Amino acid sequence: MISTSTRISCIVLFVISTISSTALAGDPSAILEGHARITFENTDKSAQSRDEANEFGTEDPSVFSQFRLNPEISAPSRHDNNAAPQYGDLENFGYFLTPSMWPASRGTTIVFVCWENASPRFVREMEWVQRAASSSWQEHSGLAFRGWRGCAETSDGIRILIEDTGPHVKQLGAFLNGRPAGMVLNFTFQNWSPSCARNESARERCIRSIAVHEFGHATGFAHEHNRWDTPGECTLEPQGTDGDVMLTPYDASSVMNYCNPVYNNNGSLSLLDVASVQAVYGKPQ
Ligand SMILES: [Zn+2]
Repeated sequence: MISTSTRISCIVLFVISTISSTALAGDPSAILEGHARITFENTDKSAQSRDEANEFGTEDPSVFSQFRLNPEISAPSRHDNNAAPQYGDLENFGYFLTPSMWPASRGTTIVFVCWENASPRFVREMEWVQRAASSSWQEHSGLAFRGWRGCAETSDGIRILIEDTGPHVKQLGAFLNGRPAGMVLNFTFQNWSPSCARNESARERCIRSIAVHEFGHATGFAHEHNRWDTPGECTLEPQGTDGDVMLTPYDASSVMNYCNPVYNNNGSLSLLDVASVQAVYGKPQ
């Protein structure tokens, strides 16, 4: 249904973000201890190869302006019905790719994050990203993003490249483990989405809310509007890899939903985003 060469566009709407700022993640000793324990081997080769070429990214903000809520539109099947996920015990419980789940260790799922091209020039921006990830997915679940320092050549976990291009991840969840430039984030917006650079406030809002969205992918979540049960008023095409389980009812307010009229839900997880991440990674320890 979706070309493996598809780069996901993550539309930009510039709405004031009210991301809460909470404590930064991690104590250094836990970082090293956990780092040594982390080993992840994906055993689902089909899912891995399917995802290999996929990129989840943000592209032309004008895509968003093409979106219209139109109740007149009938509800087309967004996916072939034969491809609809099989409901099971998870029926009532986002849209998650099961093989991309990061492994837990001693009750906590520690995921290391490092910067491939950390720069003193971007100290504030790097902190915004860390706070965005920590105050969203981490704060509401058993996930713990640790590290946040420069990448070594062999660093595993999520490797972030800072680049003035469309923000994206190249895989979902643990398929990102150790992958060079697995996540690409834009801090300057000179080439891509220059309206994010119209003032400092807009730039910070873009950086924070995009970080929450991309870390949703890095946690294992596909785009909410990719679901087969997405209502007809959401007319955007599915983008990128689909999930394989639907953990909650369709969530119009998800940070992972392109059809959310509030771009990335201002970087705040919806109630169902929280329910989803807790269904996978448990509640905060
Ligand atoms: Zn996305």
